[in-house]
Amino acid sequence: GPRTLKEFVETTWAYGDRPFLVGESATYTYREFFTASCALARRLHDTYGLRPGERAAIAMRNHPEWQIAFWATQLAGLIAVPLNAWWTEAELTYALDDCTPSVLLVDGERLPRVDAWRRAHTVRTVVFHGGSGDAEVTGSAGDGVERYEDFPAPDPMEAPPLLEVRPEDDSTIIYTSGTTGRPKGAVATQLAQAGSARHIQFYGAAATLAEGRVPGQGPAPVTLMTFPFFHVAAFATLYVTMGVGGTLVLMRKWDADRALDLVTRHRVTGYAGVPTTALQLLAAAECRGGLESLQVLSTGGAPPPPDLVRKVGAGIVPRNGYGLTETSGGVLASYGDEYREDPGSVGRPVPAVDVRIAGPNGELLAEGEVGELWLRGQSLVRGYWRDEAATAAAFRDGWFRTGDLATVCDGRVSIVDRLKDMVIRGGENVYCVEVEAVLQGHPEVEDAAVFGVPHPELGEEVAAVVQLCPGAKVGAEGLRAYAGGRLAAFKVPELVAFAAVPRNPTGKILKHELRELWELGEL
Ligand code: ATP
Repeated sequence: GPRTLKEFVETTWAYGDRPFLVGESATYTYREFFTASCALARRLHDTYGLRPGERAAIAMRNHPEWQIAFWATQLAGLIAVPLNAWWTEAELTYALDDCTPSVLLVDGERLPRVDAWRRAHTVRTVVFHGGSGDAEVTGSAGDGVERYEDFPAPDPMEAPPLLEVRPEDDSTIIYTSGTTGRPKGAVATQLAQAGSARHIQFYGAAATLAEGRVPGQGPAPVTLMTFPFFHVAAFATLYVTMGVGGTLVLMRKWDADRALDLVTRHRVTGYAGVPTTALQLLAAAECRGGLESLQVLSTGGAPPPPDLVRKVGAGIVPRNGYGLTETSGGVLASYGDEYREDPGSVGRPVPAVDVRIAGPNGELLAEGEVGELWLRGQSLVRGYWRDEAATAAAFRDGWFRTGDLATVCDGRVSIVDRLKDMVIRGGENVYCVEVEAVLQGHPEVEDAAVFGVPHPELGEEVAAVVQLCPGAKVGAEGLRAYAGGRLAAFKVPELVAFAAVPRNPTGKILKHELRELWELGEL
């Protein structure tokens, strides 16, 4: 199989006139996509003189052109740095200072947020969707800013720059979400990304078979994908789709009703997104229907509430994938009946990934014991960008320490909590994910988050922030009684506050925000 992303994308040329990217303003077939990527790669390499190893930052919404920008960097041997599209100017500046890109590939909306950095570093900038209703492009061509729309139409005979991309070269720097601290730039080699693409395709084929269909037969999948492109969950979906010549339907902005319209309009066969949006899609469909063409519903990026899989209709196959920025995509996956029977598990490793549950000193723990999940495999990153201390702390004897607490039963992994989120109450471990699942199961609860707050005698005690459904009547005592009927007393939150649960774009609860609000007495 391909050992670089350059080789991988070249294989998709065979899909020719099949639709690949269906955006709200443009659609690209595989051929059009590849041609445009080659043309942009030529510009980056021949015109701008960028050379392998230089960084290209990408900051855009889920426009189809995001993918053209990304694959152009891979065809030109550059290191792509997909930046979080929700980041503010300060957050973008932090990452740009860290990875020092030689070119910025941004949309019109994000140009103002990178403008000061761009000027201070005189970095070439290509603006996509500049002036298309979002924000007018402020710079002029002489200023180092060029509009993608002004480039000549790509020549279908154009080939990528003549250069060798090697498996050991760096392919991407992807920043971690920063849910537990400062975002860190995780560096994946070409071999790691190509490995991720290959392994996730094996997984896709195995899941398809297990779901009673034959991979590669019948019409290619059409997937409505709402993971943000800069997140590894999107990479996993992208690779599975490209491997079989499928179509990705994209949204500029999430809206459950519009998502349903897109499902009908494009006869969408699969949905891929975070648990929060998946739940909203199912709820919208409950009122008005519209999921008739859907065969698969995949989630990832955060623990799904146990209710989610129960709401997935019998005709739809549920899938759940687990991965981290550091694994360049999905590494554990659960689907079909196994997932329905055991919704608390994230399933089994995809091919070529090894799993180990480690005790505090790295020792191997027995089945059923809770310890830190360690992973090994080709798709893992080689370390953090210019951060040897963080790299040394996270990697040990070829293993990557995920920072997640997990347990294995019959080869199936369950994520118990994040190590940093676990609450130790009077010496007893309380796993927030477990308590959250119970609270989220209450019929009047829309969302719930659990975290630890300091306590003079116990060390920590358990606090919960609960977001109620409209018209709910339950109070703190009612919720505590409900939890008390389902959990040991030491796990029941002593403190219950009612507020919206802050989540990031990949569906993760922002616990540091909750702890800060708590300290400020604002909960
Ligand atoms: P930082 O390291 O900066 O705090 P982060 O770890 O939040 O960032 P990501 O790499 O986006 O950044 O998130 C990976 C984490 O997401 C995993 O460690 C795990 O806790 C969680 N996760 C992802 N998918 C799932 C899933 N299907 N079920 C449960 N947890 C998941």
